Amino acid sequence: MLNLSDVTLTYPDGENGTLNALDAVDLTVPAGQMLALVGPSGSGKSSLLAVAGALVTPTSGTVTIDGTEITGASQAERARLRLNHIGLVFQQPQLMPSLTALEQLQLVGVLRGARPRAVRDAARQALAAVGLDSAAKRRPHQLSGGQRQRVNIARALMGEPSVLLVDEPTSALDQHRSAEVMELIATLTRERGTATVVVTHDLEFVDVADRSVTLRDGRLAEHATV
Ligand code: ADP
Ligand code: ADP
Repeated sequence: MLNLSDVTLTYPDGENGTLNALDAVDLTVPAGQMLALVGPSGSGKSSLLAVAGALVTPTSGTVTIDGTEITGASQAERARLRLNHIGLVFQQPQLMPSLTALEQLQLVGVLRGARPRAVRDAARQALAAVGLDSAAKRRPHQLSGGQRQRVNIARALMGEPSVLLVDEPTSALDQHRSAEVMELIATLTRERGTATVVVTHDLEFVDVADRSVTLRDGRLAEHATV
């Protein structure tokens, strides 16, 4: 479960001014729930993901993951949390050009300090979970855009995260591939019981999600369905 309580993130703005990228945000995402986060550009979506992913410490308020407070944790503790509890999926798959799909995932396991055999098993399992078992030996240039995004998602699953944070996963994909990636994220959320936040402009994602919220000027509102 992911919980943000009264989270404010303030940046300096102009000469003496400040800007609240996040303004008193309260948000709970239970295990197994997929939340769609929408909002105009500059409304704070990336800031929310960064704070929930322990990449940025908010100015005030608390963030907890499975009851462990990540705000106030040391840099080393936050790095460990990211590796073991948080799966981050960025918009453009950041894959290593020279590594096969399987190796992209194994690299994460090695960084976590797991044994080689366990790493290989976990990598095969994660690839299977995204339907890419048969592409294990392909390098990024041998994969389609949709397949690369699925490798990206599989890699985020390597730590068996309890929180999955996904930034516009479908923006570079055609409609058909987008639908597949959406279904995949929804299925993984249910099967693995992750608390999932998906930043999206795609209104179809809002339909697939269990719940959707809108950010506007750093403030959160429940999504009003028209
Ligand atoms: P979104 O992802 O919805 O486009 P962001 O979270 O990136 O929104 O940005 C929210 C607000 O915070 C914007 O006004 C942006 O200009 C500001 N902002 C984001 N990062 C910084 C930063 N590092 N320094 C100053 N202002 C920032
Ligand atoms: P998509 O419809 O998902 O965009 P593509 O039309 O790009 O897929 O590719 C169709 C199939 O061909 C996919 O299974 C993909 O893995 C495979 N493929 C694409 N490019 C290469 C390549 N350079 N070498 C080997 N297989 C490839």
